[in-house]
Amino acid sequence: MKTKLCLLFGGKSAEHEVSLQTAKAVIKALDLEKFDIDPVFISPEGEWRKGTPLKSPVEDVAELQFGSEQNVSAAEGLQSTSLQTIDSTDRGYDIIFPLLHGPNGEDGTVQGLMEVLNLPYVGNGVLASSAGMDKVIMKNLFKEAGLPQVSYVSFIRSTWETDHEAAYKKVEQEIGYPCFIKPANLGSSVGISKCTSREELEAGFTEAFLYDRKIIVEQGVKAREIEIGVLGNDFPEMSVPGEIVAKKDFYDYKAKYVDGDSVMIIPAELPDGMAETLQQMSKTAFQAVDCSGLVRADFFVTEENEIFINEINTMPGFTPYSMFPLLWENSGVPYAELIERLVALGIERHNEKQ
Ligand code: ADP
Ligand code: MG
Ligand code: MG
Repeated sequence: MKTKLCLLFGGKSAEHEVSLQTAKAVIKALDLEKFDIDPVFISPEGEWRKGTPLKSPVEDVAELQFGSEQNVSAAEGLQSTSLQTIDSTDRGYDIIFPLLHGPNGEDGTVQGLMEVLNLPYVGNGVLASSAGMDKVIMKNLFKEAGLPQVSYVSFIRSTWETDHEAAYKKVEQEIGYPCFIKPANLGSSVGISKCTSREELEAGFTEAFLYDRKIIVEQGVKAREIEIGVLGNDFPEMSVPGEIVAKKDFYDYKAKYVDGDSVMIIPAELPDGMAETLQQMSKTAFQAVDCSGLVRADFFVTEENEIFINEINTMPGFTPYSMFPLLWENSGVPYAELIERLVALGIERHNEKQ
């Protein structure tokens, strides 16, 4: 029997375009002899649009950008019968594969909808997704798990608006310069600034609060950026480490998605024993945030070989040229197999809950 898979992509987020590219690659990698694929496109405005079952891989992402005449409600999008005649033999989807990044996709909201509809899905559940999207909550969980991190403080907009000076003084006393200011709930480096003076601090607060009512300010470190893939449910496995070498001052949105001028080195060259230490920390982070399916754990490694965990991403970039799939390919799991394993892990987790 073929696996009935519903692929969710696009989405109301800065990573909409990336998600479309990922969808194209995932469709190409899925064996159509084994999978029936229903595509569901979420427009940049957040409208859900359902396509007809795919008969072949798509040549161009434009084929996946359905028009408003194909609008459905979110719940209809997740129901396998919505475009077919409903008959009693029809069963629902075996698996939903959400290829969505950032808010409204990676943050537990779509996961909650799938839970309510009792549908199996790929990747992290509601709690891990939302905790992983909120950098303050995530760091608090890391702290509790004993993972090494740079120092950080967080603010909500109303506190800052009441007393700007007190907020800046707190940062200068507890964190110092350079520091990084980030909206608590975004990804893809949007709204992040590096500050080396009071002037930049003020601008950074103003910028970050445009995106979120909560922000985090962290001590800035000069460090290499090393990433590890984690795959599994209760018995997670770790990939080899990879390094991102950004040509810019930091790995900002443009470096990530526009210029593409950062280089990946897999496996990363590290001192003896450090790969194992990072893998162990990745597993601790995965379990601290109650993850399932997959996570990419990102670290800073300083010149003195001091390690800090930066973050985990619960739906990391997933094109065949993204770090997470490449880490697995270098660990003996090619792209098509990685996708099949994620599907199997999603089904396994759902069955264990029943
Ligand atoms: P996102 O979730 O948007 O990827 P990150 O927290 O990973 O946000 O920050 C984006 C980039 O900014 C990092 O990859 C790194 O290059 C830089 N950066 C973030 N925090 C720090 C820090 N505390 N010290 C040095 N560089 C940082
Ligand atoms: Mg992130
Ligand atoms: Mg990051």
